[in-house]
Amino acid sequence: MDKEIVDVLVIGAGPSGCVSSAYLKKNNINVKVVEKTKFPRLVVGESLIPRVMDHFDEAGLFPALDKMGFEKKLGARFMRGNEVCIFDFSNKFGEGWDWTWQVPRADFDNTLAQEVINKGVDLEFETEVIGIEFNGTDSITTVKNKDGKTKEIHAKFVIDSSGYGRVLPRLLDLEKPSKLSPHSAIFAHAEDINREEGEEGTLISFDIIETEVWLWVIPFSNGNTSIGIVGPTDYIEKLSENGDPTEALRKAISLSDYYVKRFGDVEFLFEPRHLKDYSCSVKSLYGNGFALTGNASEFLDPVFSSGMAFATESGMLAAKLAIRQLNGEKIDWQKEYSDYILYGVNVFTTYVKEWYTGNLQELFFHQPENPDVKRKICAVLAGYVWDKKNTFVRIHDTAVVNLANFIKAEKQKA
Ligand code: FAD
Repeated sequence: MDKEIVDVLVIGAGPSGCVSSAYLKKNNINVKVVEKTKFPRLVVGESLIPRVMDHFDEAGLFPALDKMGFEKKLGARFMRGNEVCIFDFSNKFGEGWDWTWQVPRADFDNTLAQEVINKGVDLEFETEVIGIEFNGTDSITTVKNKDGKTKEIHAKFVIDSSGYGRVLPRLLDLEKPSKLSPHSAIFAHAEDINREEGEEGTLISFDIIETEVWLWVIPFSNGNTSIGIVGPTDYIEKLSENGDPTEALRKAISLSDYYVKRFGDVEFLFEPRHLKDYSCSVKSLYGNGFALTGNASEFLDPVFSSGMAFATESGMLAAKLAIRQLNGEKIDWQKEYSDYILYGVNVFTTYVKEWYTGNLQELFFHQPENPDVKRKICAVLAGYVWDKKNTFVRIHDTAVVNLANFIKAEKQKA
């Protein structure tokens, strides 16, 4: 069997793998990426949050993305009937980027991957990891290309950024069920023929149909818009009688008083995708000679668009720690990697859970708005979930629920 020798093998060329490999290359590490598919490929995850910009910038990937003219995302609008709550990232608490993009991921990921190649990374498409063996921190990974030919890749460290491929969680028995209740989604892209002029046409919006059910509208700069419905799995499954995703998404759109006029008659550009029980978790984020990043580790929920931010945060951190380990330092992966990443995951978990209990919705739509609370929640929604100066980060587990209970008690008194 053919054999290659590298320092670091990255599995998957999604945003997590691209940030990781670009940063490794920038630091003169001999890195190789293997990607199962041929790009461009369709993937969900189109609404970014500002924290990702720090990582694209640090990895040297920002200029190539910026040239693409993706739609700028300056905040997000949440709607419940006639109630509206708009977050503007420039009004957030603390430091950090105050804008990002909303993107068709096929084009976005392809730009990232091509830029990684331009930077000299050996990225092999249509090459799938099918097995791995560890000997201490050294590993031998078996890959298979589209012609069925296999080869071995010897590496001193492996970064698994395989997203829902979940390569190492499957091969090493690291899968663990998510603590979140089962939710599913159906989404498609449509040519946005009824798009309004100006901000209304390009604003990213989340329209609440019922407490646990919401519709996303993510307009792209290419004139198309992504529309998706999210809710408890049994609700999503009952949207159509025979499980037809097109019928289900049409039904979901008809339930949105606000968007039915704009999207009621549009043609979908591909058959809507049904993503069932999407939340996932792992027993450990690392092991001897490897780290799991992005969706190959933990995925919570699309509601606050945290997926890409964790993908790039973990991809960047895994790369930095791998470099130090290759340089002979002893790394405490539990403390420096797992504890750090899981701190942010836990903050977002609170927000996701309290979104679906309705508590967070109480805060979002409460009038008059409390500017201090709003600025702090805005920083969380921008992805700055490690900023312990922010009370809505530091005491996330009590802040949201206590404030919601207070608002509900006041409402009852009135
Ligand atoms: P991916 O982007 O999935 O990339 C992984 C790559 O690994 C793929 O290209 C795959 O082909 C490759 N691969 C898989 N198996 C193998 C193998 N055996 N060998 C080699 N390569 C392999 N996130 C957001 O930030 N914003 C959103 O609006 C958002 N919406 C979402 C909506 C839904 C319904 C769901 C389910 C998720 C959403 N997400 C969102 C999450 C987002 O999709 C992911 O967090 C993000 O794509 C993770 O990036 P990644 O690089 O970890 O994985």
